[in-house]
Amino acid sequence: MTTADAPAEPPVDPYALDREGLEAYVAGLGEPGYRARQLHAWLVRGVDDPHAMTDLPKTLRARLAERFAPSRPELVAHSVADHGHTHKLLLRFSDGEAIETVLMLYPKRATVCISTQAGCALGCPFCATGQAGFRRQLTAGEVVRQVVVADAALRSGAIGGEDLPDGAPDHVTNVVYMGMGEPLANLAATLTSVNWLHDPEGFNLSARSITVSTVGLVPGIEQLTGLGLPLTLAVSLHAATDELRDQLVPINQTHPLAELEQAVRGYRAATNRRVSIEWCLIGDVNDDDRQADELGRIAVRWRSHVNVIPMNPTPGVKWREPTAERLKRFVSRVRERGAEVTVRDTRGRDADAACGQLLAAYTLDTGSRLPAAVAAADRVDALRRRPEATT
Ligand code: SF4
Repeated sequence: MTTADAPAEPPVDPYALDREGLEAYVAGLGEPGYRARQLHAWLVRGVDDPHAMTDLPKTLRARLAERFAPSRPELVAHSVADHGHTHKLLLRFSDGEAIETVLMLYPKRATVCISTQAGCALGCPFCATGQAGFRRQLTAGEVVRQVVVADAALRSGAIGGEDLPDGAPDHVTNVVYMGMGEPLANLAATLTSVNWLHDPEGFNLSARSITVSTVGLVPGIEQLTGLGLPLTLAVSLHAATDELRDQLVPINQTHPLAELEQAVRGYRAATNRRVSIEWCLIGDVNDDDRQADELGRIAVRWRSHVNVIPMNPTPGVKWREPTAERLKRFVSRVRERGAEVTVRDTRGRDADAACGQLLAAYTLDTGSRLPAAVAAADRVDALRRRPEATT
């Protein structure tokens, strides 16, 4: 390649462009539209090396190879749990940032839990990712590539040198945006990646099999509502009073429960989809009767199903899962208020399962409590010592 031929624009990760984006990109190279469809089909099959795209002319393959950035992530850590049914991957991108992706296998279902940010700025004190702080947004390509890695593993029947169990599906069937970061704080990348997943010529997932989770970023929910796509929206509530939620989910100080409720109602009305509630149950923090009663009332008003997830121990955080008795009592009280509630299996408990934990184990001194977690824990302890915090 001569200097005169060299592309002036910065290298591009093709997965950062959805089908329309690829069409525009290929048209910009002066190529006909069907070349974009061929390129897209290779990418969906996990092939990102233009030299391997044998139905493209050699000249185009060479031009794409000059222009595509080396964006394939490297698998730097891998933990396996649940007899091979849960695979937690630490993927590192070319700038050294590492994020977590989890592949969970069920009969006839393969769910990938993906990350949207390296770290997170929202600072929930029970969350290992929040404790590590925000480092950068993931690009749409980096979000899509997590699904590509999982899909390739399912097709080949192995990942990181480990065979997948017999009967595992040969493709990804469900995607949940519940890994590191807040997906609605990186909305552009989230939406481009949703396009890849939902596109019938892409990963062909129904909107219902894609779950976007949020801790309650109201402007993001409103933007998602405007799109009218019937994605499953999951709100990570974790506290049912503003007083406690201000501590456990600090974004609540900006968008309190009443505002969140309005946004949830708007989403439900626009998409006709139920919004689910996620509740990380933390022993002696949010497992008391008052929280259970308020949660039950909220779930009935929102017409939401509640998923209770007993907390995983997190490095640097003193809180722990509730006792079996407290868990049972909490769930019964939520049900007594008329809400539907399920205790979610704690997938990968032996695989550093909670979001951010594999990274925490990889980069932090395990067992050292972090200042933000210590301060928040002290504030919650003070709240709970007040007489109205009934148990
Ligand atoms: S729980 Fe979610 S929003 Fe809160 S700090 Fe962790 S990753 Fe961020």
